[in-house]
Amino acid sequence: MGMSSSFDISALVRQNILKLEPYSSARDEFSGSASIFMDANENPFNAPLNRYPDPGQLDLKRKIASIKGQPLENIFLGNGSDEGIDMLFRVLCEPGRDNVITVDPTYAMYGVCAQINGVERRSVLLNKDFSLNPHAVLDAVDERTKLIFLCSPNNPTSNTLEREAMLKIIDGVNCMVVVDEAYIDFSKGPSLLSLLKEKSNLVLLQTLSKAWGYAGIRLGMLFAHPDLVGYLSSVKYPYNINTLTIERAMKGLEGGEQTRTWIKEIIEERSRLAEALELLTFVKVVYPSDANFLLVQVEYPAAVYHYLMNKGIIIRDRSSVPLCEGSLRITIGTKEENRMLMDALKTLQP
Ligand SMILES: *Cc1c(COP(=O)(O)O)cnc(C)c1O
Repeated sequence: MGMSSSFDISALVRQNILKLEPYSSARDEFSGSASIFMDANENPFNAPLNRYPDPGQLDLKRKIASIKGQPLENIFLGNGSDEGIDMLFRVLCEPGRDNVITVDPTYAMYGVCAQINGVERRSVLLNKDFSLNPHAVLDAVDERTKLIFLCSPNNPTSNTLEREAMLKIIDGVNCMVVVDEAYIDFSKGPSLLSLLKEKSNLVLLQTLSKAWGYAGIRLGMLFAHPDLVGYLSSVKYPYNINTLTIERAMKGLEGGEQTRTWIKEIIEERSRLAEALELLTFVKVVYPSDANFLLVQVEYPAAVYHYLMNKGIIIRDRSSVPLCEGSLRITIGTKEENRMLMDALKTLQP
């Protein structure tokens, strides 16, 4: 096994997608500068929102390409990372036949998409210390495995997966390996983006939803081999990224300085909050975090969760998740919000 740069991605693609004749509009066939658009049955009034957005999102992709140092043809944009995840299933996984692997506990959308698409999901557990066991993952792979999902930093365990362990998997399989880097900006570890050129079975997911502060506009970025990006693009809704999102994303991506300031402040607050939580008698473990949240093991997690909810503070109860027994997941807020959380928790303390 093992991946070479001449690896043929189309060998992994579903037959119906290989044969697909994608939707195209007259504007796909035209490049130049027209001034009268009578091809798409748009309303001539209410400019500029009367027009359909660019299905190829070229301007936005150019901006992302320059920020991320990636060629344009390696970028797929989705209505959140969630669209990228769903498109991977629809392009690669034959329902009722193929399978995918998730390394649990992890982000629930991989499993939800598997179920919706009628695709078997094989679950491999992280080690007890939340580290990745590449051999356990490789053991679960067979010739029908199309996708392996790794999330680094991982949600909800908040740790970065070891680079060497991820590489063992990427180099050891003939399927696509998706590394979800939604929280990479909060991590000490570097992104795997620089490996994309040499690893043609690597798919990276990043998003504007976390460090960039734009969860509301829904923009997910998927980086992969141009062949795979081509298949994903032929399956997506033609106008999957709307005009308002493109506009706000273009503006938002100018704000790299602001984003870096937010990241720094969130990371500082993360340390402060972790230290404060550790002093509480009912807190057993505050796990080290490389993300913008803390996983905290407590006594009586359900009681703490409901107590906070009654005070209007909503956190996530992960206590029934394998390896996260007794644990709550808390997103880092503003300094003021974190102080209010701590005030509430100190009152709870006997
Ligand atoms: C929050 C999160 C995302 C972001 O999803 P979007 O659809 O881009 O908002 C992706 N992956 C993981 C693991 C997450 O926790």
